[in-house]
Amino acid sequence: MKYLGIEPARPKVAVFDFTGCEGCELQLANKEESLAAFLGSIEIVNFREVTSTRRDDYDVAIIDGCISRDDEVERIKEIRSRAKILVAMGSCASFGGVNRMKNAYNLDDANREVYGDKPQATGLTRSIKEVVDVDLEIPGCPVSKEEVERIVQHLVLGVAFTFPVSPVCFDCKHRFITCLFEHGKLCLGSIARSGCNAPCPAGGLGCWGCRGPAEDCNLEQFIAIARERGFSQKEIDERLGFFGGFEGLR
Ligand code: SF4
Ligand code: SF4
Ligand code: SF4
Repeated sequence: MKYLGIEPARPKVAVFDFTGCEGCELQLANKEESLAAFLGSIEIVNFREVTSTRRDDYDVAIIDGCISRDDEVERIKEIRSRAKILVAMGSCASFGGVNRMKNAYNLDDANREVYGDKPQATGLTRSIKEVVDVDLEIPGCPVSKEEVERIVQHLVLGVAFTFPVSPVCFDCKHRFITCLFEHGKLCLGSIARSGCNAPCPAGGLGCWGCRGPAEDCNLEQFIAIARERGFSQKEIDERLGFFGGFEGLR
């Protein structure tokens, strides 16, 4: 890849997984049509899903997953100390993601219920920024490969990247989808960050906010409208809490 006729330096990139389903890493690895160009613009020095290379001389560390065990705290601190830029990739890394739901339960009871007399190490779910400094968060469950590729291009060229500031409704209206509220369904589209092309409203599911809040979203007004439309506070809270992106906004 050249920019203004100049071959930019290829940053050394490492990808690490913590607590999560690794779906975001798969997004990076499985888009064959652009994989060669993507890998050609960076030097992968550590990425368990795509290479057996294990080097620690990375410039950029991309983190998939959240923190939910003590050994992960030590590991992320070690990675942070080596990386010039640390990127939290996906809703788990950015907000805790679906894992955050376990924070509502007694973990000792849950451990006994699931693992019996062989309890597993576990703790409260934390996002990456709750443990170490994060330079950039890429939201989404999973992340959009196109968006990650654009961000990596910006990093390579040293150009700041800005996320869309509009809500998902913006994408939804571009697709001429009838608002799901008109069908009696709940949707976070008016307060969630766009850029995903609204696949969930298009599929009739409503938005669950996997990309976190849109800039300056009016959460109070959203809740008031949803209540007016007959949704209970419990339904609204469950939806807002699902990916953890709205944590701390209320
Ligand atoms: S954000 Fe979603 S796809 Fe990515 S690791 Fe977490 S659960 Fe998996
Ligand atoms: S369905 Fe959701 S995203 Fe689409 S217009 Fe309605 S609230 Fe917005
Ligand atoms: S519509 Fe909402 S839940 Fe679905 S991908 Fe977009 S932000 Fe995520």
